[in-house]
Amino acid sequence: MAYKGKAVMAAAGSLVLLAAAVGIQAAVTGPDFDQGVAAKPALAAAKAAARLEGALSGVEQAPPPPEEGVVWISVGKDDLTHPSGVDIPLGAPVMSSARASVYRVTEDRLPAIAEQMHDKFHKCGGFFAHGTREEAAKDLQAPPPAAAVAFTVDQGAVVRPIVAKAQEAEIRSTIETLAAYNNRYYTADTGVQAAQWIGARWSQLAKNMPGASLRMVTHSGWKQPSVVLTVPGSEKPEEIVVLGGHLDSISGWGGGGGARAPGADDNASGIATLTEAVRLLGEAGFRPKRTLQFMGYAAEEVGLRGSADIAKQYKAAGTKVVAVIQFDMTNYPGSGEPIFLLTDNVDPSLTAHLKKLVEAYTGVPAAETRCGYGCSDHASWTRSGYPASAAFESAFDTMNHQIHTDRDTLGNAGGDARHSVAFAKLATAFAIETAKPAGAAGLAPASR
Ligand SMILES: [Zn+2]
Repeated sequence: MAYKGKAVMAAAGSLVLLAAAVGIQAAVTGPDFDQGVAAKPALAAAKAAARLEGALSGVEQAPPPPEEGVVWISVGKDDLTHPSGVDIPLGAPVMSSARASVYRVTEDRLPAIAEQMHDKFHKCGGFFAHGTREEAAKDLQAPPPAAAVAFTVDQGAVVRPIVAKAQEAEIRSTIETLAAYNNRYYTADTGVQAAQWIGARWSQLAKNMPGASLRMVTHSGWKQPSVVLTVPGSEKPEEIVVLGGHLDSISGWGGGGGARAPGADDNASGIATLTEAVRLLGEAGFRPKRTLQFMGYAAEEVGLRGSADIAKQYKAAGTKVVAVIQFDMTNYPGSGEPIFLLTDNVDPSLTAHLKKLVEAYTGVPAAETRCGYGCSDHASWTRSGYPASAAFESAFDTMNHQIHTDRDTLGNAGGDARHSVAFAKLATAFAIETAKPAGAAGLAPASR
């Protein structure tokens, strides 16, 4: 307490001093505030003192507002201590734990840091970027455990006829459309246009699902929105099942708005997988018991920013998300036909559910792999205490190494979308088996 007492006194003293200076000044000269008195430093000192005062008196003080052009990134200890990780130009950490370190960096350095993470660890994301130091500090501790949910696989009669209609050509056409944008970078106009195209496409495909609605989520700090399609549940609307993938792309150090970044595999393929699931469920007129949300996240490549923003908002609002699945890169058959399930930064019981779905409905085997700290948007949900899972194109070390370059094209992934068909079946089966059909079969097929 001693130390604290003195500090309080000091703070109070400077507060009184300032009040006196202000009072006198104002009285004497009206609006011309700081004639003859260096107010700014005194004001800053007073604010600091007030914050200290508040902290010590236990009064909740609002964290300082985000600094313009500054972000706080967290990087996993495994990467920092990895031989390749030591020379990432991050400067000195401002906070550290056994799990991660936090750095204060200016926003313009994000593309270069992202590229270092991609180059050295072949990760898609690889770190979190937050607007405030307080938010970043949460990454120093392991995330809170997710609430356990009992998942079942018992809707074969509904799932099988629907997934049988999955079409490679539909998936390929979505990949080609998205890869045709010069890039889908989070600060580029083409990045906004691609998000708008996805929104319009999902709205159109979902029109036969009762109550389906679309929301473009704007994020403070950059212009690319995230896309959220909601199909309301009829019996447990407050319980939400999320299927997502990032919609942005990046290439090269500069990243920047001008670089050519087709991102056919990373991650037009994940968005195409989700789009095919929306198409199949829309055609079937699927009505879920639980609410379904399909999400295209903005700004994943520069620190999982869109998904972390949404997950934080859901957590703050007490939203009950019962399951999340992530599709990030589904089209490069680096390890043959299996669907690889991530086993780190995910929920084990949900991942076990995915394994059953792969084996029951996709026609390919399931396998396992790991991808490390903050490697994609599922980590944003896990970080906020929600059960998340992820399905990936191959074992991590045999993944598509053309990503984050202008060579990430459909042609360099075999020229077709055959590998993604099983992922579209998984996404569709996941939606039906996790949200469950409402009523008899929960279907009102589209009238031709
Ligand atoms: Zn990716």
